[in-house]
Amino acid sequence: MDGARIDGTSGGSRREFLKTAAATGGATAAALGAGEPAWAAPPAASPTTLPLVTLGKTGQKVPALGMGTSWVLQAGFVQAALHAGVRYIDCSETYEGGYCEKVLGEVLERTGLRKEVYLVTKNSRAKVGGPRAYQAYLNRLNASLERLRTDYVDCYYLHGLTGREIPLLQDPDVKVAFEKLKQSGKIRFCGLSCHDDRLPEIVTAAAECGWIDQIMIQYNYRTMGQDSIRRALDLAAKANLALVAMKTQGGAGSFREANPAPKFQELVDKGFKKQAAAIKTVFADGRMQAVVSEMTNRDMLRENIAAAAAPVLSARDQKLLEEYRQATAHLYCHGCGHHCEPAAGGVAVADILRFLRYDEVYGKRRRARELYQALPAEARNLAAADLAAAQAACPHGLPVVELVRRAQDTLG
Ligand code: SF4
Repeated sequence: MDGARIDGTSGGSRREFLKTAAATGGATAAALGAGEPAWAAPPAASPTTLPLVTLGKTGQKVPALGMGTSWVLQAGFVQAALHAGVRYIDCSETYEGGYCEKVLGEVLERTGLRKEVYLVTKNSRAKVGGPRAYQAYLNRLNASLERLRTDYVDCYYLHGLTGREIPLLQDPDVKVAFEKLKQSGKIRFCGLSCHDDRLPEIVTAAAECGWIDQIMIQYNYRTMGQDSIRRALDLAAKANLALVAMKTQGGAGSFREANPAPKFQELVDKGFKKQAAAIKTVFADGRMQAVVSEMTNRDMLRENIAAAAAPVLSARDQKLLEEYRQATAHLYCHGCGHHCEPAAGGVAVADILRFLRYDEVYGKRRRARELYQALPAEARNLAAADLAAAQAACPHGLPVVELVRRAQDTLG
């Protein structure tokens, strides 16, 4: 993607982003106000007014705010987002079984905006190494390109890379496969996404393998202070990788009834907008070049654009967010299954709690049930599990027994 096609302004550096943000983004947020056309209106093909950043060694200038699409995407909403200035869209072959790629493809073709958008999609289903790698990745990519109605994507990811899959980054066949995809013109850059509890190791391996251009990782106010993550990001920055944050909300209220509503209500009564504060914290941290946020309604779109436009967090909001973090710290599952799972007799506690969060926090019951039911039988065999021991092993004090049983009742 040619940055000049997005916006003729300069603005690659972090400092320029913060400056440009204040000058331009507010107008975009305001454009989503009362005078905005209905969802079905055609998007304006005018340049985005979101502040631009440069994505590491890709050299691409993209809006600092990208849109995630892991939900039942609606064509009208995609149009509205494009109209509001969104020009960075993140998808995957697995989102709603390929439906999201199809919706995006239809909208981008109809509006003629494909080349204006930095488009990312992901390989989830054939993360293989060895001699079969190239054909496997090519097949998955071709299917995505067909659904997206395009002949290339800007970046192609290994989706949700786990600690066990780190050897893929060091596998010469995988490297060659991605390089051949690049040479064919079907992908412009190579990347990965990750929210595994071995995230620092994965980021380090991505920085060292020499062929990854871009990473998108879980990064939020609950995790960004961890030394291991910051050290790994230092290496990634030194390798000039494009750095993109996702899951910036830190699990919202985490889990349904366990949410300490009175405490949270107290903050809400003070006028605290957690979503905006959480995303601003990531922008203000300055380590990430861009944020991909799942915006599923008009208010979220407007608020996130406003946050990108004014990324500095007030001292008061910092204080309130920290109060909120402390009050809910025992309800946020960090995905560190190596603590609790050895005691749980093979039950995949971290995955199960993540799927429960998809259901209870993000309202994605169908997706959560699909994921839960795709787990191997032994990973959800609660009869053989010692959940009390798993709960005792959790260093964050999560009510593991209650949450895992609830997941089985709801998703099993
Ligand atoms: S339940 Fe506790 S130990 Fe297990 S993954 Fe979640 S935070 Fe980590």
